[in-house]
Amino acid sequence: MHQHTLAGEIIHKGVGLHSGVNTRVRILPGEPGSDRYFVRVDLPNSPIIPAKIATVNQTVLSTQLGTDEIYVRTVEHLLASLSAMGVDSARIEIDGPEVPLLDGSAQIWTDSIAAVGLVSQSVGDESAPIVIKEPISVHQGDTFVCAFPAPETRFSYGIDFDVPAIGNQWYSFSLSSNLENTENSFVTEIAPARTFGLLHQIEYLQKSGLIKGGSLDNALVCGADGWLNPPLRFANEPVRHKILDLVGDISLLGKFPVAHFLAYKASHNLHIQLAKKILEFC
Ligand SMILES: [Zn+2]
Repeated sequence: MHQHTLAGEIIHKGVGLHSGVNTRVRILPGEPGSDRYFVRVDLPNSPIIPAKIATVNQTVLSTQLGTDEIYVRTVEHLLASLSAMGVDSARIEIDGPEVPLLDGSAQIWTDSIAAVGLVSQSVGDESAPIVIKEPISVHQGDTFVCAFPAPETRFSYGIDFDVPAIGNQWYSFSLSSNLENTENSFVTEIAPARTFGLLHQIEYLQKSGLIKGGSLDNALVCGADGWLNPPLRFANEPVRHKILDLVGDISLLGKFPVAHFLAYKASHNLHIQLAKKILEFC
């Protein structure tokens, strides 16, 4: 069978949202069948961290892979871009603990992937697709994530914020079956949606020593009277960003299950809990 990797290399530098640390990411074509994995090139012996559900070790405000000593944080936007654009294997070298947030969206990653293009690779036997035969769900309070049997991979999301500028938003997006076409809808509909936050929560998080790299240049910030840094790229940019995060987290299954994912007010923690349950039952 055939898989795909990048036809060239991609390099970007920037600040990490939570750590505030500047890092350089260099994405190289992966060996056939090697899947997507990170390499902490700044650490002794350059340890490898596979982009798999089994390596998730923290989900507070972003998804972190590895161990308490050797980890890479905020992997979701980059992994969503690679997986949604059909990059099955990639070696992602990083010289620090967190993937740069760039402009807060995945657009710079998807533009770069489209620019270098993909190449086909021969690999061994095809592993079986993950098919959801019965609904699988996880929930916490009034928030939930489910996977329903469906003929194609689709992501639907709802959010509900008590600020008029966001309010109640729902969006649904089907991952194109034609992954070799880089003009698929992930690139135009989901990747440009930026990270967002509420002003009062941001002040609290910064006082707690979190989101050290956040700024009005890399995240949309919403106050009681509206957005601090408009214009938005889409009227419903926040819910589209939640789909971006969900796509990135579900990509840690290695390949996208054929299923309809439905989430409401969920978090990285709940996305990962659902993915673990899928691994257990499918
Ligand atoms: Zn995000």
